[in-house]
Amino acid sequence: MARYTGPACKLCRREGTKLFLKGDRCMSGKCAIDRRSTAPGQHGAANKKQKEYGMQLREKQKAKRYYGVLEKQFKNYFAEAARKEGMTGENLLKLIERRLDNVVYRMGMAESRKEARQLVLHEHFELNGKKVNIPSIIVSAGDVVAVRENFRGSAKCKSLAEGLQTKNAPKWLDVDKTNLSAKVVALPARDDVDFDFNEQLIVEHYSK
Ligand code: SF4
Repeated sequence: MARYTGPACKLCRREGTKLFLKGDRCMSGKCAIDRRSTAPGQHGAANKKQKEYGMQLREKQKAKRYYGVLEKQFKNYFAEAARKEGMTGENLLKLIERRLDNVVYRMGMAESRKEARQLVLHEHFELNGKKVNIPSIIVSAGDVVAVRENFRGSAKCKSLAEGLQTKNAPKWLDVDKTNLSAKVVALPARDDVDFDFNEQLIVEHYSK
């Protein structure tokens, strides 16, 4: 399973915005983009005017990086979104929101999507009572995601559970903070996406 393993903060600097890839650090004074907001590289500080194609490309890259998805998989999501009824851009974001690693992050049981992905890969979660290790599984309404029994006693789980108590999940997830589980009570809507994407630019990028 391919994934990006380079420095996360470089991605934010490249996109010129916080992508919140490192949990608590993103809110602290240590955030790289707060200290140096220019793009990485020798010419990063140059004041380049973006053309139409550049804007579309950057918006697509931003969404991919935000959700930690690589190009091929993102393209597959786009194709699936285009086949569905309704606005393709909205369908795309709503579909990616339903990834299992995103659900673990949005329910509050991980500091970042990257950490959520790791926790799923290490089989610390179950879906509808069954062990899972595939972060890209798309959840459906009625599904229940929960921490597995053998992870509950660990110091890591205890610390995540403590953090969970202060977090607010989106309305499409009904989180049981005592039982460390979340039920998908509805499919996410466009306004449940917690980042201000211009999805129309992504659609234009792939429609060329
Ligand atoms: Fe991005 Fe977080 Fe790094 Fe800041 S600390 S640059 S928001 S990954």
